[in-house]
Amino acid sequence: MSIGKIIVIVAPSGTGKSTLIKKIKDSVTSLVESVSYTTRPIRPGEVDGVAYNFIDKDTFLKMKENGEFLEWAEVHSNFYGTSKKFVESELEQGKHLLFDLDVQGTDSFKAYFKDKAQAIFIAPPSIEVLESRLRGRGTESTGIINLRLSNAKKEVLRKDDYDYCVKNEDLETAFNELKTIINNIIES
Ligand code: ADP
Ligand code: 5GP
Repeated sequence: MSIGKIIVIVAPSGTGKSTLIKKIKDSVTSLVESVSYTTRPIRPGEVDGVAYNFIDKDTFLKMKENGEFLEWAEVHSNFYGTSKKFVESELEQGKHLLFDLDVQGTDSFKAYFKDKAQAIFIAPPSIEVLESRLRGRGTESTGIINLRLSNAKKEVLRKDDYDYCVKNEDLETAFNELKTIINNIIES
């Protein structure tokens, strides 16, 4: 059986992580993305079960009590968790898995999987550019944008703590860099 790789993408909110992940999934078709559970409200255009499984807080807490999460974290006042069952079953089948996690989840993964998990930090060109992307996306209220921005200022300090760092200034350049890194991890 082939050995599946674990690739984690970590970035402050508004950096362009979801945009890059979508392009990577379209291009590197051997990757399977883990669909997390979250209590965050669904955004216009999101489909339940695709980017996330959207659940209420009580359901999340029950799943947590039942040990159903490989890791979980409170991020920007909502809960997010990775399904243990999904990860175990995909890894058993030798699939290459892609995770979209915050810094807490990425740290948990690195502690648990060690070098079996490779983490790639996506950095914004600057906090000012990140702020304009976050406001331009228009999916959150001003209060939530300010919370995400204040968390982003702390998270960018972690940019050199992971296995790779890609700056998302020009989208195509960042995409090509990310794709090369991911293909190298898969082929290693
Ligand atoms: P994240 O998932 O990191 O929170 P998104 O992928 O939703 O961020 O991107 C935030 C906003 O920035 C979106 O409107 C997206 O279209 C835009 N964006 C992403 N990457 C770039 C880029 N390289 N240049 C300009 N705008 C970008
Ligand atoms: P968003 O609400 O913008 O989709 O995601 C907010 C943050 O939560 C992002 O940094 C994203 O990577 C992170 N996140 C998404 N799913 C999980 C998860 O299952 N676990 C952890 N720890 N973070 C997650």
